Amino acid sequence: TKQSSISNNGNKIMVFLRLRPMVRREKDAGGRCCVRIVNRRDVYLTDFALEHDYLRLKRLHDRHFTFDASFSESASQQDVYSTTTAELVEAVLEGRNGSVFCYGATGAGKTYTMLGTLENPGVMVLAIKDLFTKIRQRSFDGNHVVQLSYLEVYNETVRDLLSPGRPLVLREDKQGIVAAGLTQYRAYSTDEVMALLIQGNKNRTTEPTRVNETSSRSHAILQVVVEYRMRDAASMSVVSRVGKLSLIDLAGSERALATDQRSVRSIEGANINRSLLALSSCINALVEGKKHIPYRNSKLTQLLKDSLGGACNTVMIANISPCNLFFGETQNTLHWANRAK
Ligand code: ADP
Ligand code: MG
Repeated sequence: TKQSSISNNGNKIMVFLRLRPMVRREKDAGGRCCVRIVNRRDVYLTDFALEHDYLRLKRLHDRHFTFDASFSESASQQDVYSTTTAELVEAVLEGRNGSVFCYGATGAGKTYTMLGTLENPGVMVLAIKDLFTKIRQRSFDGNHVVQLSYLEVYNETVRDLLSPGRPLVLREDKQGIVAAGLTQYRAYSTDEVMALLIQGNKNRTTEPTRVNETSSRSHAILQVVVEYRMRDAASMSVVSRVGKLSLIDLAGSERALATDQRSVRSIEGANINRSLLALSSCINALVEGKKHIPYRNSKLTQLLKDSLGGACNTVMIANISPCNLFFGETQNTLHWANRAK
């Protein structure tokens, strides 16, 4: 078996912003919209308590942010998918790995963007749908095999969301770092995948202290591996090409920022910190073009080592609420995403 290689080795990081609509709860609490998106790129943050003058606001550096694209509350799931992820799906078919992260505070819309609902499926489902469409359109003599795995990193413990049970151990082998015993689900169509993901999401670890806030501390990772095999007529050898797409619904970013500076209150807080901070460090190192990328610092970054940096495409979608009651969290998310560019 021969592995075909891709010549383009450059790493590309794209950063997007998605603003969700105001929810009922926020309106009822007297919340007002404090975010404005202009030209599908520029984001202005208004703090009603401090600033009323929109023109002066424009001159304040830390209140204006710009991204590769910014989605307003009216953007559809398809809009978000097409702009952020469709290119990565194309690249995966060519054997190039990629990853898409949703980052933001709890309640900001990460799970809606990644998983979505039955009526409005998100990036994970639309990516798989598109993948199958593209595979069908390609009339090669070989065949494609699509394998899915869905896992969680919670408290620096890795769990299989498709087959819940004991924690999985990470091992280093020839292919890189793998979770030993992780379910590889062979997928044939889109229809089965949504149900699978919804079921998987139910297996995510829920917040032990606040029952309503599900999974705000866990990172959910969907990995889609596409293998293309073809028998080379001349040499009679089998040529194969493998691409991997990782789609990640990150844990809520609020605690990572809150516990960062102070002494560590709990193991749990520290571990959330560890994975999010490790991811930040890796992204910063990649953006700065550093040679050493500190993948080893957390389970999350170990798992994503082959999908982050190197010959990979990386996409970050920062999710925010429009409501001024979450001004601080929104500002933190915007600053963080701005640094990732
Ligand atoms: P997170 O995963 O970041 O904690 P959720 O995705 O669960 O946040 O979103 C919080 C709430 O807002 C949910 O009720 C969700 O359905 C709703 N929501 C989020 N984004 C959107 C959107 N773009 N359009 C409509 N509703 C949304
Ligand atoms: Mg969520």
